[in-house]
Amino acid sequence: MQTPKEFAESNRERFLKDLKRLVDINSVRSEPVEGAPYGLGVKTVEEETMKLAEELGFQKTVDCEGRIGYAHYGSEDKFLGIIGHMDVVPVGDGWDSDPFDMYEREGYVMGRGTGDDKGPTLAAMYACKYLFDNNIPLKYGIRLLIGCDEECGMSDLDYYLENYQEPVFAFTPDGGFPVGHGEKGIYHSDLVSPVIEDGKIISIKGGMASNVVPDRCTVVLNAKYAKKILEAAEGRNDYVITVADGKVTVTAKGKAAHAGGPWGSNNANLLAVSLLLDADILEGEEKKAAVFVSEVMKDLDGGFLGIAAEDGRFERNSIIGGMIDLTDDGRLCLNVNSRYNTAIPKEEIEKRVAEKAAEYGFEVRNVENSGPFYLEPDSPAVKLMCDIFNSVAGRNDRPFVMSGGTYARKMHNAVSFGCEMPDADDPDWVGTAHMKNEGMSIDLLMKAIEIYAETLMKLQEIDF
Ligand SMILES: [Zn+2]
Repeated sequence: MQTPKEFAESNRERFLKDLKRLVDINSVRSEPVEGAPYGLGVKTVEEETMKLAEELGFQKTVDCEGRIGYAHYGSEDKFLGIIGHMDVVPVGDGWDSDPFDMYEREGYVMGRGTGDDKGPTLAAMYACKYLFDNNIPLKYGIRLLIGCDEECGMSDLDYYLENYQEPVFAFTPDGGFPVGHGEKGIYHSDLVSPVIEDGKIISIKGGMASNVVPDRCTVVLNAKYAKKILEAAEGRNDYVITVADGKVTVTAKGKAAHAGGPWGSNNANLLAVSLLLDADILEGEEKKAAVFVSEVMKDLDGGFLGIAAEDGRFERNSIIGGMIDLTDDGRLCLNVNSRYNTAIPKEEIEKRVAEKAAEYGFEVRNVENSGPFYLEPDSPAVKLMCDIFNSVAGRNDRPFVMSGGTYARKMHNAVSFGCEMPDADDPDWVGTAHMKNEGMSIDLLMKAIEIYAETLMKLQEIDF
């Protein structure tokens, strides 16, 4: 019998051919059509993945109304889950080649989705093939879930969990090695002021995404305030101030950071609002609103909103104001994004933010809140997976927690498991997930097949 390592090497060429079949399909989410809620590209890749799964030995495949697909082998009473995703993020600029024409270069496969998440998902599928080919006895069935909407909100898995049976334990090959055994909660919402009558701010706009501390914010006022603004900004180089056409325009320049680790950033939205307060231009409701949003943004730990906390498992709680804007009906609107640990319950986070906002006359709109998950690092499955990774990769890493989100957070008993390598040292022409020139090490994919095959065999011995 081949070892998983021998199996991976002997299937290298076939694996690369199959991966090209998936990567070459443009599966960026697009307009819904009948039977394809995430667009035709996503639907096409879902079907191709199911076809491939059958070729690799899965016994049946099911399309769940175009939202997600699955391939199954063995017992349907109790089964293990593997959930990867076949949708990809938009291409963006600056590629050196066609992102949907996978090719090899010096031990890497290049193309959108090679690393996130088509390559790792296919590695897990080949690990299953190893078990099937060798008739490994399976106490638990194996279900491969083919995610179709990971990048735009994970509605695919929500749909699955509402309508189909959940695996007794699952991993998603959509993170890093060794094992992600916990993820912080993610809360975001819009904090919206009352309508501001006769406000001084003509427009304010900062930030492009909820989950990023912005490095640019632009605010426009009547030119008669230019003098006060220039005085308040004197000696500071984080503002560009121009006066033209009867208006003064302030562009604040900050330092960006991801919402998951905002400490050390410099929020341009906060810089802009602070300057208006320092210049003492605002009055009444407008001033009150500006004070509120600036206090919210100043306290990255969430202390002002009453949600600062530590739990000894994750980093302390954080909150950022990623986007600021004036609504069409003249309300100041700040989008906030918090990453929180297990110290404060999910509902309590919402409640405290709403209470503090209400003190300043603000309402909370568009709340999205997904609670944290945490499996003990010494639970049998986490320990087993970490040990297998370390022994195959010749390392000595510890399971980790993170502030980002994978599919694992939506399930009762799941972790993220590969394929990114801790402190990977890829050439600079290889882009990471979501970046231009996305690429993935072929050796790492081969190693992943080995790790996943060993894992799927050993998980059979654990009681779920
Ligand atoms: Zn992904």
